[in-house]
Amino acid sequence: MSNWENYVRKVVPYVPGEQPGGGHIIKLNTNENPYPPAPGVQRALREFDAGTLRLYPEPTCKSLTDAIAEYYGLRSEQVFVGVGSDDVLAMIFLTFFNSGLPILFPDITYSFYPVWADMLRIPYEEKPLDGQFLIRKEDYYGENGGVIFPNPNAPTGILMELSEIEDIVAHNRDVIVVVDEAYIDFGGVSALPLIEKYDNLLVVQTFSKSRSMAGMRIGYAMGNERLIRYISDVKYSFNSYTMNRTALVLGVEAIKDAAYFKETTEKVIAVREWTKRELTKLGFSFGDSMSNFIFATHAWAPAKELFEALKKEGIFVRYFSQKRISNYLRISIGTQEEMKTLISFLRGYLQR
Ligand code: PMP
Repeated sequence: MSNWENYVRKVVPYVPGEQPGGGHIIKLNTNENPYPPAPGVQRALREFDAGTLRLYPEPTCKSLTDAIAEYYGLRSEQVFVGVGSDDVLAMIFLTFFNSGLPILFPDITYSFYPVWADMLRIPYEEKPLDGQFLIRKEDYYGENGGVIFPNPNAPTGILMELSEIEDIVAHNRDVIVVVDEAYIDFGGVSALPLIEKYDNLLVVQTFSKSRSMAGMRIGYAMGNERLIRYISDVKYSFNSYTMNRTALVLGVEAIKDAAYFKETTEKVIAVREWTKRELTKLGFSFGDSMSNFIFATHAWAPAKELFEALKKEGIFVRYFSQKRISNYLRISIGTQEEMKTLISFLRGYLQR
């Protein structure tokens, strides 16, 4: 008997939402955008010269960091890009959460955080959300090894005020505070302006949701130049060529088209507000989501049962069996048509 298994880095992996194949399904389970990427992305993809794929991509990703910096009025040195914000966040955990003290995040939040922490042997404490599923800023004031939370939080969709975020950053000047803004473009106020004032703040965003590019895998962090340099050093020590050539070209096109971005995010917001009204009429309740999903519980129908019934109908939503939230469904916002189909199915199902 050999002993190699004793030395394996054993991890309990993050479980992403299903990506079911096949025809007539309505996919509201992974917070994807129901609209296609900007027209410029489609054009650039058609015109892409496959011959260039024999060459490695730019290791600095400068074309893309320049475009992101220009969009936000930053310098390129304040931007780090990665293979989706998951990659960016993993690099941030690896770079900054290294003091041996526990890092802090909410008990109900993006379930990848404890997975990275466990994998990298980073101790952590989960701070319970209050009864309304709100983050209590005071929970993050004590000594810690770093702080991370999404704003709006996931899977609740609830937004925190900028002044409360600033309080958390200001109480943690000796560690890095990461605000994961995967869903900020659906009506939230970004903490980005605070990066000029606080050298311990990183704001992380993604092209996966508001820019309809989940399949391309582009995420980015914005912060003080020194923070960005430290993450880059870790990235170069891991994999120099993270972003492929197509992602670099198409990412630039996606961020350039401000008008299309405005049009599609406004559509998602309008459909979300319509869906909230309809869900309320059917007996659902939920926190006031400012994201592209609604986290809802029904007055009497168990969430697990609704999840199964919807799935049988070809409508995929997300269900988490975790304590405190096992009677909730996370419903991504699709097109108006898709949401009408969802609501009319639920209406019929609940009236049986
Ligand atoms: N942060 C949060 C809060 C998320 O919900 C997600 C999506 N699963 C991500 C980050 C990662 O998104 P991506 O890697 O597609 O940028």
